[in-house]
Amino acid sequence: MPTTFPMSKNNSDSQAVLKKYFGYDAFRPLQDDIINHVLERRDTLVLMPTGGGKSLCFQLPALMFDGITIVISPLISLMKDQVDALQANGISASYINSTLDRETIASIQDDAASGTLKILYLAPERLATPSFLQWLKTLTISLIAIDEAHCISEWGHDFRPDYRNLSSLRIIFPAVPVIALTATATERVRLDIIRHLALRDHQAFISSFNRPNLNYAVQPKAGSFPRLVDLLKKNHDSSAIIYCFSRKDTENIASKLRHHGLHALPYHAGLDHNVRRKTQDQFIRDEVRIIVATIAFGMGIDKPDVRLVIHYDLPKSVEGYYQETGRAGRDGLPSQCILFFSFGDKMKHQFFINRIEDDAERRNAEHKLQQVLDYSQTKQCRRKFLLEYFGESWPTEKCGNCDVCVPQSIAALQSSDELPFNEELFQELRQLRKTMADVRRVPPFVIFGDKSLQDMATYFPQSPESFGKVFGVGRHKVKEFGTVFLRTIKTFCTKHSLAEQSRPDILFTEKEKSFLSDTYQETLVLLNQGLSIEAIALHRNFVPTTIMSHIEKLQMSGKPVKLDHLKTPPNLEHIRSAFKKSNSWSLTIVREALGDSFSYEELRLARLLIRAESQT
Ligand code: ADP
Ligand code: ZN
Repeated sequence: MPTTFPMSKNNSDSQAVLKKYFGYDAFRPLQDDIINHVLERRDTLVLMPTGGGKSLCFQLPALMFDGITIVISPLISLMKDQVDALQANGISASYINSTLDRETIASIQDDAASGTLKILYLAPERLATPSFLQWLKTLTISLIAIDEAHCISEWGHDFRPDYRNLSSLRIIFPAVPVIALTATATERVRLDIIRHLALRDHQAFISSFNRPNLNYAVQPKAGSFPRLVDLLKKNHDSSAIIYCFSRKDTENIASKLRHHGLHALPYHAGLDHNVRRKTQDQFIRDEVRIIVATIAFGMGIDKPDVRLVIHYDLPKSVEGYYQETGRAGRDGLPSQCILFFSFGDKMKHQFFINRIEDDAERRNAEHKLQQVLDYSQTKQCRRKFLLEYFGESWPTEKCGNCDVCVPQSIAALQSSDELPFNEELFQELRQLRKTMADVRRVPPFVIFGDKSLQDMATYFPQSPESFGKVFGVGRHKVKEFGTVFLRTIKTFCTKHSLAEQSRPDILFTEKEKSFLSDTYQETLVLLNQGLSIEAIALHRNFVPTTIMSHIEKLQMSGKPVKLDHLKTPPNLEHIRSAFKKSNSWSLTIVREALGDSFSYEELRLARLLIRAESQT
């Protein structure tokens, strides 16, 4: 047994590690608080929605601790993707599960023992083997992360008896801090996690379950098939999941879509194991864009760029609906969740509900279904409905990103005028990414996410240094992929007479940093209370332009800034396309293009709003 505890380095290094390894400039909400807490070697419980960025909360401390971090994860298919993604960032990580042969496992164990591995993913059943536990004891473990921690609870939707083995970890490694993470937020599950993992003096970090980049809409199901085809054709480049009620429906709809020239495949539990695996693989590798599935599809998939989640039938419960729609837009880019609703579909569920013998269980199922009907027919903001369903309050009546708040939102699906990026270059970079991914036998998103490619197609980096500033590009990716991506960007720019664009300066001086924490903070608090820019200016005795510059700085420092209550300038769309056309965030350039009838103030406000959209 090791006698010394692995020490963490200075907490202030975490920002540098974030950029160096993950290529991100700022933490998402709560991430830095969680990471600081973990670095203090205290037990931590993290409740965050899917896509919230939970993994970073243990991956980053793992790099700052001296020893190895053990991650328990229930999903074998996800382990490989996560490890591939870590390795692509130059992080020494591996996994041990039943898919590996004995020799491979032995060599991974050697790596772990020699201290070269920083992160080791394990399937929970490993912990039932005494010899494996004995071996674990010989390592210097700095942190134990329990992913999908709700699997420990019978009250969760996904109880795994193997997760009960985790209780033993606490006994075997009494001094090692534990971080448990889940997207399931019910009180009962939370208490179960704390009890079974014997979390000590822990702190729970509970983030908002709002997914700002997801647009929610309900459409009548009658006559919906041509609309579905149209929607998928318009988004033929995007990954989509269509959920259906029955296995037969998934096959019928997939086949009808194929008749319309759309490459769609069915997925359900009745298909052969190998067929399912192949379909899932093709989807993850961007070889099939559309999966028509029962809810059996999704659990083992961490694909960050699913742009459409369509429920072609009613879901069973609002919880289920939220979980399934949660698979859209993990990368934070705008994505759509559409429910095709018909009363007739209620009967399909009712048929099965009527067969439930236990009275209480049947009534519960009926109640859950009624809540789905309420959601489908609500006249209030759908986001508000969803968040309030989960006990969270939404501060305003409208969210601005659902079909009730913005009735034409379904038309906005053409998920393209968010960043002023060059579409043609983006497509070329996507091709390149796919080629690189195939050579390495990893999913394309492991090389770069869409957001990174959009960033490249916005700023046209021309040197390794500016390539390193791209969103999601850490040091390792500059070395590994810089030359070939830069070559494509440069060739494109030469052909189209485009030059590298300067980025907004996100480096702050020490003075600015402390300023950020007081005067900007005050602006932030008022803004998040829902005050308009004018009201804040009045309150703080500043001119509105100063308040806007505060907001800009806050945005660039990565602080979550709420702007959806601000009045949108009447010409926003026009201004947006001017920014896009000019390929620049410069107010001067855009004003030159638009003419004097646009004030700097108006353009500045528009820029804030456009940037806020691309930041969510
Ligand atoms: P979760 O496990 O909560 O569902 P992930 O850990 O998979 O979420 O993160 C979702 C996505 O967000 C991933 O693509 C991840 O790389 C990205 N991400 C995480 N933290 C940040 C950050 N600070 N800045 C930008 N992207 C981030
Ligand atoms: Zn809304």
